[in-house]
Amino acid sequence: MKLPKDAAARRGVAPVICYPNDSLPPVDLSLYRRARASAVKTDEVLVPARDAACFEVPAGQFFRISSVEGAQVGDLNLWNRNDLSERFYSGKTRALHGTHITTGERMWTSFPYLRPMATLTDDTLGWYGIDEYGGSVHDVIGTRCDPYTGNLLAGSQYHHCCHSNLTRALADHLGVSLAEAEPHVHDVLNVFMCTGFTRDTGQYFMKASPVRPGDYLEGFAEIDLLGALSACPGGDCSAEHSSDTAACHPLLVEVFAPAAGTLEGWVSPQVNGYDGSHGR
Ligand SMILES: [Zn+2]
Repeated sequence: MKLPKDAAARRGVAPVICYPNDSLPPVDLSLYRRARASAVKTDEVLVPARDAACFEVPAGQFFRISSVEGAQVGDLNLWNRNDLSERFYSGKTRALHGTHITTGERMWTSFPYLRPMATLTDDTLGWYGIDEYGGSVHDVIGTRCDPYTGNLLAGSQYHHCCHSNLTRALADHLGVSLAEAEPHVHDVLNVFMCTGFTRDTGQYFMKASPVRPGDYLEGFAEIDLLGALSACPGGDCSAEHSSDTAACHPLLVEVFAPAAGTLEGWVSPQVNGYDGSHGR
């Protein structure tokens, strides 16, 4: 391949941030923390290893995902409880906040809604930052492990990938068939998963999650949420997924309701203000 004479100059151009996020609606963490201090637990769901479970979080309440028993990553789907067509948009969340998200950042919904559905309010792995490999925790760059890619790459028929776990859990929760539930499953927030892209080949990598029992990620529901969490068959994702080889552990989801009056000043976000006419 012939290099243009000005290749170095072209490569040397400094990058600009696509979406400077200082113009996003501000996140008032002190308001959330005041509300959280008064909150009492109203529900909990234990997600079994290599399986998934659903949970509901009314707008204005908190949800906590905890590691219990052993290092384990979770694949999280979120929907608007009242309209499943509004769901977590991993790609736009990545464009707005970066490859991994933590305290003070938000999970955004799909078009045409594009509004915050959850705000991350606490993360005991927030200390991890970005490691020497470019890896970090809680990514929005992976999709979810699924049986189709396994079949494509290895000819396998494995039924406990996160995609299938989420599909079964959603079908059971809604009382619908697997075929009806599956199209609602979408790209996830990879809770506790440690991932990045290799610098030399740009490939998606994973490494053993730094999560330990007692660690948690906590979020605030900006709208009524239906969640589904899969305890990934990859376990801590140190070696492989899409098989029964890795050691796997359950994950705990808890829901907390703040005391009345402690969310003074908070309003559930409106749907996006674009008029939807697309120039016609
Ligand atoms: Zn998985």
